[in-house]
Amino acid sequence: MSSSSKPSVIEQLKVPLIASSGEDTEVGNYFVANYPPFSFWSPDHKDAVHDVLNSPRPVDTNLGVYFHIPFCRKRCHFCYFRVYTDKNANEINAYLDAGIREFERYAQTSYLAGRKPQFVYFGGGTPSYLSINQLKDLTDRMKDLFPWDETEEVAFECEPGTLTEKKLEALREIGVTRLSLGIENFDDHILEVNGRAHRSKEAFRALKFAKSLGFDQVNIDLIAGMMDETPENWQRTVETAIEQDPDCVTIYQMEIPYNTTIFKEMQESGRVTAPVADWPTKRAWVDWAFNQFENNGYTVSSAYTVVKDPEKMKFVYRDSLWEGADLLSAGVASFGHFGGVHYQNQADVGPYMTQVDNGELPIFRAYPTSPDERFVREFILQLKLGKTRASYFQEKYGVNPLERFPKELKKLEDQNYFSVHGDEIRVSRAGMLEIDRLLHGFFLEEHRDARYT
Ligand code: SF4
Repeated sequence: MSSSSKPSVIEQLKVPLIASSGEDTEVGNYFVANYPPFSFWSPDHKDAVHDVLNSPRPVDTNLGVYFHIPFCRKRCHFCYFRVYTDKNANEINAYLDAGIREFERYAQTSYLAGRKPQFVYFGGGTPSYLSINQLKDLTDRMKDLFPWDETEEVAFECEPGTLTEKKLEALREIGVTRLSLGIENFDDHILEVNGRAHRSKEAFRALKFAKSLGFDQVNIDLIAGMMDETPENWQRTVETAIEQDPDCVTIYQMEIPYNTTIFKEMQESGRVTAPVADWPTKRAWVDWAFNQFENNGYTVSSAYTVVKDPEKMKFVYRDSLWEGADLLSAGVASFGHFGGVHYQNQADVGPYMTQVDNGELPIFRAYPTSPDERFVREFILQLKLGKTRASYFQEKYGVNPLERFPKELKKLEDQNYFSVHGDEIRVSRAGMLEIDRLLHGFFLEEHRDARYT
């Protein structure tokens, strides 16, 4: 194609909007965060968690610690998490106390006593909603129970509008190494229409402070295909992100799960199609964004991330968890994993606090995985990184994915989503852009068509 006939940026980003794709965005969770799907986890399996906790500590399994902060300034219209926007300082302190009591209980178990976390993660909600005093007190108490002196990464999620220079300095002093800013978009109209609490000015200010303080890694989150987004806006957002020079960028394709404000409005108006870009458009936008980042020295390191320096910029939380690390997860609705058993805590703060007050672990449901389910889990999660080796699974699980999934892999190869090179299975760019849909093909029969809730 001659340069004169090459489509302009806007034409490239617009094409799928014009064609009727038949792939409208409908309601549902598409993102595969874990395996087996959550709908198979059950309160009947809670004893399996206690059985692991009463067993001896493992010799060679890494431990991560997660704490969930369910508070936000405002509820985003696309949010499906249980978040609280109306809690005062006393209620938040009571919640943090409950979290510490939960950690205390875990620290007394034979499986966890004396173990030091390889990684720590604060997620939400909005962890940066906490005050400096709350953050210092919480983390001091967590460190007393599970010391951080061997911790390789402390990751912390932030909403830009909750950050001041002083709070960022406090996070640095506490030991946060990976700061993640939920920017989502740099356009104030898009932020407002989608119910975000912050505006671009706050995002720029937070980024500037964060970079000046020398965190090991500053990540920004973007979402492709928010309500009212146009090709022009997406182009500006990506170009602005590149100018801001973050270490890492995570890009999600907008989905509309059940329980979101957008879903409720769709229900009321009888709409089936969500008022956001369709899937081919979102894929085209992420593809274009990945190309721009690559042209500016970034490397695509997973189906959702680009990093400036893949050798230095590790994401220990993701990589260890996907390889089967234990995750001690505390706080309302949080997800954890011990010795092959998944668990999730009570999803509402009321029952969560009641169970902690009663001296119990606030676990709501659990799932003891079989060795085969653990193999499938790790295989599909590794594929999100864009490539994996069959021999790794042969050594670890005694299963060769090339022999286990010949038909599935062939089908994906024929569609140019995957390719096999000797021992290595690679995912093409087209495959990366819809990896969550493709991964369902590797699920065990009984888990196909499951809802990810
Ligand atoms: S900031 Fe995150 S957790 Fe809070 S309401 Fe928005 S999407 Fe939900």
